[in-house]
Amino acid sequence: MPILTKALQKTAPDQPYRVAQIERRDPRPHDVVIAIKAAGICHSDIHTIRDEWGSAPFPLTVGHEIAGIVEAVGDAVTRHAVGDRVGVGCMVDSCGECEQCLADQEQDCLNGQVGTYASVDRDGTVTQGGYAETIVVDERFVLSIPEGIELDVAAPLLCAGITLYSPIDRWGVGEGTRVAVIGLGGLGHMGVQLAAAKGADVTVLSRSLAKEALAAELGATRTVATGEEDWDAELRGTFDVILNTVSADLDLDRHLRLLKPHGAMVNVGLPPAAQSIKIGSLIGGGKVLAGSNIGGIRQTQEMLDFCAAHGIGAVIETIGVTEVDEAYDRVVAGDVRFRFVIDTATFAEQEAVATE
Ligand code: NAP
Ligand code: ZN
Repeated sequence: MPILTKALQKTAPDQPYRVAQIERRDPRPHDVVIAIKAAGICHSDIHTIRDEWGSAPFPLTVGHEIAGIVEAVGDAVTRHAVGDRVGVGCMVDSCGECEQCLADQEQDCLNGQVGTYASVDRDGTVTQGGYAETIVVDERFVLSIPEGIELDVAAPLLCAGITLYSPIDRWGVGEGTRVAVIGLGGLGHMGVQLAAAKGADVTVLSRSLAKEALAAELGATRTVATGEEDWDAELRGTFDVILNTVSADLDLDRHLRLLKPHGAMVNVGLPPAAQSIKIGSLIGGGKVLAGSNIGGIRQTQEMLDFCAAHGIGAVIETIGVTEVDEAYDRVVAGDVRFRFVIDTATFAEQEAVATE
């Protein structure tokens, strides 16, 4: 029997959220049924459901920063047990057989990973995300949340955490490296904490100094306001790695000048519009312009364990299920410190509309 669950759903990009009853699949032998306790709001949820990246499949429930408790497991499940604290991020399936999956890089599955929402699942249905009370996920894509991290501050680690942990690892951010994080939002505030915990010297490039004190608490050595004229005068040629988390247009040429020779600017922000660069910005100094897409499941578990060992969690503002539309406007305005997390207990106060 499919499982019915309350979920926040939109029927079109410009419609407000409503609480609807949606179906989760009848659990298969390898499935884990999770009672969701907390769901983070990623800017990708907003880009998707506002059709900023192209047309999304409606009706749709988004959310890929999910933390909860295992409620039931299929007969063949070995990795998780009822009562375990678990998380789900941006993927719920991949082929498991291609060279990328075999190399623990499921996010780059050659046969296409299945996204947690708005993806066509292997059974042909469209996946529905984590702004809900319950989700059913194959055990291979269910992470263990270590003791010591509360579920609500763990939820954003499942996307924002791994999205910064992975390039920090790949590009060798650590002792002796100078790193800039552009944009101090959900992703950026994880980047600052993780890079600082790895021993790097971290500079935040934010539009103003409004978050300067908070940036310092997260581990930044300095914050520079990019809204000021000549903000970059002292910074040119000084960074080994720049992590760009900005969700909007950015002057890439100007930021590439901040790299040392052979430095790398890694883009994780996904602005809807195409961005341009002058190739000369890369050639002088042999610089690298790279991208990075979340991270694999093995590395996501490593990131969660690293966060637990270093006392790192997301800095969150908790909201109820009726506050999500307003929260989206605040995220776009940069008015969140630093991640909104939906407390799914607040579904209990809401009637679900009947859907077919
Ligand atoms: P967010 O919380 O809104 O943070 C984005 C930050 O970018 C803002 O806090 C702001 O920082 C800065 N910013 C926003 N608008 C700007 C503008 N017009 N000019 C300059 N800076 C601006 O968003 P998020 O959840 O961290 O996500 C950031 C981006 O990463 C989104 O595009 C999202 O879709 C993408 N993403 C990518 C991956 C991946 O795997 N690559 C994973 C998750 C998300 P300041 O206020 O400090 O300037
Ligand atoms: Zn995300």
